[in-house]
Amino acid sequence: MADENNVHGVVRRLLAEVRKPYKVAGRETSVGASVGVAISGTEYETPEQILRDADTAMYKAKAAGKSKVEFFHIRKRPEDMQLLLMEKNLRQAVEREELELHYQPIVSLNGGHVTCFEALLRWRHPQGYRVFPSVFVPVAERNQLIDVIGEWVIRKACKQSLVWRNEGFDDVRVSINLSSRQFHSPNLIHTIQESLADADLAADCLELEITESTAAHDAEFAVSILSEFKRMGVRLAIDDFGTGYSSLSYLKQFPIDILKIDQSFVKDIPDDADDAAIAKSIIAIAHSLDLKVVAEGVETEEQLKFLRAQQCDEIQGHIFSHALPVEEVVELLKNKHSLAR
Ligand code: C2E
Ligand code: MG
Ligand code: MG
Repeated sequence: MADENNVHGVVRRLLAEVRKPYKVAGRETSVGASVGVAISGTEYETPEQILRDADTAMYKAKAAGKSKVEFFHIRKRPEDMQLLLMEKNLRQAVEREELELHYQPIVSLNGGHVTCFEALLRWRHPQGYRVFPSVFVPVAERNQLIDVIGEWVIRKACKQSLVWRNEGFDDVRVSINLSSRQFHSPNLIHTIQESLADADLAADCLELEITESTAAHDAEFAVSILSEFKRMGVRLAIDDFGTGYSSLSYLKQFPIDILKIDQSFVKDIPDDADDAAIAKSIIAIAHSLDLKVVAEGVETEEQLKFLRAQQCDEIQGHIFSHALPVEEVVELLKNKHSLAR
């Protein structure tokens, strides 16, 4: 290209061409497209690197809505060098077994007991500090690394659940977060089936969380994959609910069991009247669809009181416990630690 601005014209022409209606079995139909563009000088060394960054841009475009265009501009982003460096370290982290899972209890507001542990990734960096998933999961999402990490998480959490069962704690489930890329991976179902079989674990001991935006982004696809999981007997939760623009008609079709209210709506209840109204409505919608509701990020007594009054089913948050390293989970279970009424 002589001029980068020419890209816009090319994208417009491509989109116009793709959008042209055509006939299928006598009915007129058309398809849309989201476009990701990677722009560089000589920074890239292989075609795969260009495609990877174009792919990253495309996922961003898809997340932004229908028929959007996004750019990945390697030269205009100094932080990309940081990213590349982190990517390299993260790759080694997997090989050097620097990743670990912590488990955060989810407790019932009815009985006060722990019903489930959510597995949350931590990276113990060789320089001594702990890196949180909000920093490195997006980096891992940029390439196939999330496939490797995601599979490790699934296998590890299933095995861990078996250990707890063998110690006599057989009524706690374990839940796992699936990233958007994992959710779209053709291997996912097989990996889950195999991990359950390897750990000799019943499917209903496992809960899978996908975010509302992942589900909403391609709702028909989500319905079909979620239905397969449902047939296997795995429990399903929509995570970060309230942030992802899903339509209620799809929500009704998702064969899910649980809605998790995003912590952004929990943070300022009950003082913020808007957030209180939203949290209350989410609970009402969930119950009318026969779903269980979990409030995330509960930190204060006031939040807890409000959620109880709204008949929220379960909570997860610092008021009860942080995510714990595995040794501390057994302590918590042995002490039968429960939420005060
Ligand atoms: P999430 O699935 O919504 O997990 C809940 C997050 O809220 C966790 O952050 C948890 O530590 C934090 N949290 C829990 N209670 C409280 C509270 O009372 N106050 C506050 N301020 N925060 C609380 P974490 O562990 O940093 O994880 C962030 C996100 O990273 C997760 O959000 C999830 O989307 C993603 N993630 C974590 N582990 C995995 C994984 O194994 N695979 C994938 N794909 N994503 C993961
Ligand atoms: Mg989650
Ligand atoms: Mg969440």
